Amino acid sequence: MHELSLAEGILKTILQVAEKEGARKIKSIKIEMGEILLVNSEQLTFCFDIISKDTLAEGAKLDIIFLKPRLLCNVCRKEFQINTDEDLPILSMICECGSNDVTVLSGREFNIKSMKIEED
Ligand SMILES: [Zn+2]
Repeated sequence: MHELSLAEGILKTILQVAEKEGARKIKSIKIEMGEILLVNSEQLTFCFDIISKDTLAEGAKLDIIFLKPRLLCNVCRKEFQINTDEDLPILSMICECGSNDVTVLSGREFNIKSMKIEED
């Protein structure tokens, strides 16, 4: 499952940082994520809750910010955004000129922006 491997990546990274900072507990984590990754935030939170048990991150809240993808049409050179409110956003990567020859400029980001910890 996509979400599980992402959750594992988040946990591994934040635990490394938390150890360095001498954290007693991780309270929350802010994550920026491109919508093209098609991550289900509920599933990601669910996976994270399970794998973070008995670690410093147990009970930490995931604060996920989704970034709108930006695309460039290779035919008419227009930059546009896809509407990802639809069920299958990956299918709507089509420019208004009708071309689906597009370059993804952004939308695949996956960044851990910050986290709140409790120090000793
Ligand atoms: Zn176009």
